Amino acid sequence: MKRPTILVLGAGYGGLSTVVNLQKLVGTDEADIILVNKNDYHYESTWLHEASAGTLRPDQVRYDVKSVINQSKVTFVKATVDAIDVNTKKVATSAGEYTYDYLVIGLGFEGETFGIPGLDKYALSIANVNAARQIRDHIEYQFANWSTDDVQDDTRLTIVVGGAGFSGIEFLGELGNRIPELCKEYDVPKEKVRVVCVEAAPMVLPGFDPELVEYAVRRLESKGIEFSIGTPVVEATPEGVKIKKGEDEFEFITAGTVVWAAGVRGNRLIESSGIENMRARVKVDKDMRAPGFPDVFIVGDCALMINEEINRPYPPTAQIAMQQAVTVAKNIVALMKGNDTEEFVPALKGTVCSLGEHDAIGDVMGRKLTGTKASIMKKVIDNRALYMIGGVPLVIKKGKFSL
Ligand SMILES: Cc1cc2nc3c(=O)[nH]c(=O)nc-3n(C[C@H](O)[C@H](O)[C@H](O)COP(=O)(O)OP(=O)(O)OC[C@H]3O[C@@H](n4cnc5c(N)ncnc54)[C@H](O)[C@@H]3O)c2cc1C
Repeated sequence: MKRPTILVLGAGYGGLSTVVNLQKLVGTDEADIILVNKNDYHYESTWLHEASAGTLRPDQVRYDVKSVINQSKVTFVKATVDAIDVNTKKVATSAGEYTYDYLVIGLGFEGETFGIPGLDKYALSIANVNAARQIRDHIEYQFANWSTDDVQDDTRLTIVVGGAGFSGIEFLGELGNRIPELCKEYDVPKEKVRVVCVEAAPMVLPGFDPELVEYAVRRLESKGIEFSIGTPVVEATPEGVKIKKGEDEFEFITAGTVVWAAGVRGNRLIESSGIENMRARVKVDKDMRAPGFPDVFIVGDCALMINEEINRPYPPTAQIAMQQAVTVAKNIVALMKGNDTEEFVPALKGTVCSLGEHDAIGDVMGRKLTGTKASIMKKVIDNRALYMIGGVPLVIKKGKFSL
């Protein structure tokens, strides 16, 4: 009998963890496992805010996919997926066309600009390693030019961050540490720099404990970061952003850098795949399959799951993506053996939001943490994610140990 082909798209937290789990469960001759990813490296998306601010080298946030896969069981293909058609079971990639017996879609997130004019064109987004490098270089370029300009334009030194959610706040935390370094390096007086966080919702970090949020805002404000809350961005231009401050009241913030971190959606390829979706995310069945397509699994940010306790979707996180991957791998093996699949039940252990290298807030297993304790916990979580994919050698190579 022909061995089944398991095709996994994307080597992010969801896709790569699926493969790492599959290679433990599937014997060499039992299946052909193919992993397709745009780059030959995996990047820690959860560290991208650090690479974007310039507090961590881009190299440090990534590692070779081949260093964690068992190449006797898994074929890695470095290619861009161009189209998925689940009706014909065909996946078009820059390395040719693939078909499958089981498909796992783990192509991750894209920034959501909610149709706000100009954002796609004029705002930068913390989307991947290249984008992070671009943000870091762009900010440095503004500082370098301010120093050499004949007539100094201080708005070069204004950075607008759109979004006071998780990634926006984590990025601001890094900027709070990076700006003093940049000021020193480029002889820029600190008071010339302005960092403004603009948020449409009436609060910072929705869903987080109010006491922890207050701590975070206080800490960031103490580093000079301004908050403009309940003031949606209505337009972005090459000069900056226009925000709505009241019924007919608008303000234009002239800024040399605009970073948009206010929401994510699934990968756009989902929209033309033939699978029903909402903003490129698939409301998956309980066993992580795409409704109506029993051989297609969705993992990570492309999957939408409702938390029935509060009747809202679970936030897209690496934590959930990696847990889903365990279930997806087990369920593929169950199908191969003609057994029943199991339901995915998230085991949420809490959330820690970094506020820079040595500061954070966290709600972990019902305990509220701030400052160094929360920051250490964040590093433990980061190192655990490395351990789960690449074991001790990966933790030694890429782990975070400074206290
Ligand atoms: C700044 C920031 C901080 C975050 N912090 C946290 C945190 O502290 N905790 C937490 O749990 N979550 C955090 N998240 C969310 C977390 O990063 C995502 O939920 C997680 O990365 C989703 O995993 P994924 O596998 O779905 O996608 P990803 O990790 O994004 O991986 C997708 C993969 O698919 C590849 N790919 C995409 N398109 C194609 C294509 N067309 N062809 C081939 N390959 C392709 C990409 O290169 C990538 O390797 C953070 C996110 C950001 C941006």
